[in-house]
Amino acid sequence: SVSSISVEGHIKPKGGSQPVYYGSIEQQLRTVLGDVNVDECDANGENAFFVADLSEVYRQHVRWLRALPRVIPFYAVKCNPDPYVLRLLAAMGTGFDCASNGEIQSVLDLGVSPSRIIYANPCKAASFVRNAAAHNVSLTTFDNLDELHKMKRFHPSCKLVVRILTDDSKSVCQLGLKFGAPLDTVPRLLAKARELELDVVGVSFHVGSGCYDPNSFGDAVARARKAFEYGRDAGYTFDLLDVGGGYDHDNFETIADVLRPAIDEHFPDADYAPGGALVEGKPHGLRIIAEPGRYYVQRAFTLACNIIAKRDGRTEVSEEELNEGSEATDASEPVQELSPQIMYYQNDGVYGAFNNIMFDHQSVHPQVLTLNRRIVWPAGSSDKETSKAASSTPAPRVVPCSVWGPTCDSIDLVRKVVPLPESLEVGDWLVYEDMGAYTICAASNFNGLRRSEVKYILGGGSAGRSQDANRTFGKRALAQGSTPVILITDPFRSISSSQLSAMASSSLSP
Ligand code: PLP
Repeated sequence: SVSSISVEGHIKPKGGSQPVYYGSIEQQLRTVLGDVNVDECDANGENAFFVADLSEVYRQHVRWLRALPRVIPFYAVKCNPDPYVLRLLAAMGTGFDCASNGEIQSVLDLGVSPSRIIYANPCKAASFVRNAAAHNVSLTTFDNLDELHKMKRFHPSCKLVVRILTDDSKSVCQLGLKFGAPLDTVPRLLAKARELELDVVGVSFHVGSGCYDPNSFGDAVARARKAFEYGRDAGYTFDLLDVGGGYDHDNFETIADVLRPAIDEHFPDADYAPGGALVEGKPHGLRIIAEPGRYYVQRAFTLACNIIAKRDGRTEVSEEELNEGSEATDASEPVQELSPQIMYYQNDGVYGAFNNIMFDHQSVHPQVLTLNRRIVWPAGSSDKETSKAASSTPAPRVVPCSVWGPTCDSIDLVRKVVPLPESLEVGDWLVYEDMGAYTICAASNFNGLRRSEVKYILGGGSAGRSQDANRTFGKRALAQGSTPVILITDPFRSISSSQLSAMASSSLSP
């Protein structure tokens, strides 16, 4: 029968010391907070921390398989290289998009075959190319002539994918400024590759991260088709299409609804099977892969921050503003124009996990986790303790506030103006959902501060988001009795476990 150790065993990376609990995010927050006494703890005892719900990553994978069964996801490690997430994805059979030597190493360290890695950086250091060759990582992207010479010199047998430029104007993070060969330069690149006797096998693109126009994908597939024709003209038979990243939780199915028909329209002669395996006997097999990052992890990570200081924010505003701002506001009222009355300082900021405000152009949304040391999040929770606490607390007066990070730099501003209770105390906690993408990976130790650590859960439990029936895979995994691999437990009941394991083994395993 399944013990928690054998289940965890599939998720815990070697040397991973963190326990993985069943239960909801709320339960885990409650547990951690229960262990922290902010009035007595040692230095760092009240550190900000993430709760990572690994079942969310699992659900996103199942969603992917349903909507794009023919497209193999190669998770973009840069987005969140959390070892438990990587381990889970590896066990589910995804490939990995690595951008550097370090990312390649962390994936190989999990025991993943190098054949499941695409080194998706068109401009690589020569030493990294040599290292990729030494580790048999033999699929990479390029978009310029110099890279071709580098590949010829240091990894001549590597399979190459030409990254083309596509329209990224409908994306929050535009990558075309830096990467991607304009279509009219592709024939020249391919001619040079041919001359150098390099093995170009396909085409990739990235429509930009945080893409809000699904049509960008349709347009990009049409451009990729053109590049395939250039490949044929240069004497190549391409069999790989890489449809990049840019997906997120909210728009994934809409993008998939554009991608599927675009692929069918522009690659009608290509036969490809679920999981990307070539169909036996069909000559024009096309393997389609993608490089999703944000999609897999954004919602899986929730961050709790401790309020370490509080100041009157009104000292520097005019008398007039002060009078305007002193009216209590409802949380739903727009407060952008108001001056903050209270400045709250929390123990993670833009030099830490909230670097996503600067680098990833995100805005973050603090919610009150504890008010006067009592847990009040999530509002309306069915959790008895939480609702009891919430109902016995009078509705707090909400005023415009600013939220600052812990460093000594004034750029360390998490929210300029946001409605929050004026009665939050030093020692109370704020919580931020959807903090899994491009957060921890770019956090620094500026000012000698620690990066926020991660506590792991497998979903289940009763409160908040996790009440959703789809969020109970951990519990079900246990209930499955003899199955030691949680990953073939299917909360949606629409994808058979054999299909999942076939996905994992057919196209991606060595
Ligand atoms: N692939 C490449 C080459 C990237 O540069 C990125 C992000 O920068 C990704 C994939 C992941 O993109 P996203 O997180 O938007 O899916």
